[in-house]
Amino acid sequence: MKGLMRIGVFGGTFDPIHSGHLRAAEEVKEKLRLDRVLFIPTGSPPHRLMPGADAGQRLAMVRHALRDHSDFEISDLEIKRPGKSYTVDTLARLNQLRPQDEFFLILGTDQLLELGHWYAPEQIFQYARIIAITRPGVTPPVLQDVLSTAGLLKFRRKISLLAVTCLDISSTDIRHRLKAGRSIRYLVPEAVRKYIEKNRLYRQK
Ligand code: ATP
Repeated sequence: MKGLMRIGVFGGTFDPIHSGHLRAAEEVKEKLRLDRVLFIPTGSPPHRLMPGADAGQRLAMVRHALRDHSDFEISDLEIKRPGKSYTVDTLARLNQLRPQDEFFLILGTDQLLELGHWYAPEQIFQYARIIAITRPGVTPPVLQDVLSTAGLLKFRRKISLLAVTCLDISSTDIRHRLKAGRSIRYLVPEAVRKYIEKNRLYRQK
């Protein structure tokens, strides 16, 4: 039987992980009464250019960020897998590893808008519900349009929109600040800031 544990799956490049990610995950966990949130840094991202920090460094930063939260866990599933990482493969593997648990795929609405272009979107819904956390600029009527354009309207009930406190922080902005030699204090957990400083990440080459 399903439902032994309710597990949030939060994938991202996390280049670097920041307080926007962490706050969003915390609120989703609280609102949906999840038992755990699994943070899964991507290996080689199919949809974007190569990140600024390498996989080991991104993994280390996530580890530092999650250190004090007993319900947040890290998974190196995608980083260890050779080649491109597709969400559907990750979810299939998680279902295989933990067949009794129920999975909730946490996405920013920016990513949800891309769903029609993902690999095997229909299969994704076999393995997880989708929780789209609202970020500024995307409203529910748009979601309806996106699903109908992608031919995914029949999965409407497997998607929930969840409003979270939006911290206007992005990894891109953090990388820009670092490149310009500016402060990122309080945008990321202190342990992550220290790791970035110690390893001189994202500096002007
Ligand atoms: P980049 O600026 O490099 O594109 P990012 O800050 O969006 O990075 P990702 O690692 O790409 O970070 O994001 C992982 C997931 O977290 C995505 O689903 C994204 O929509 C979501 N996310 C990113 N920043 C925030 C934020 N400030 N609040 C809520 N969700 C966020």
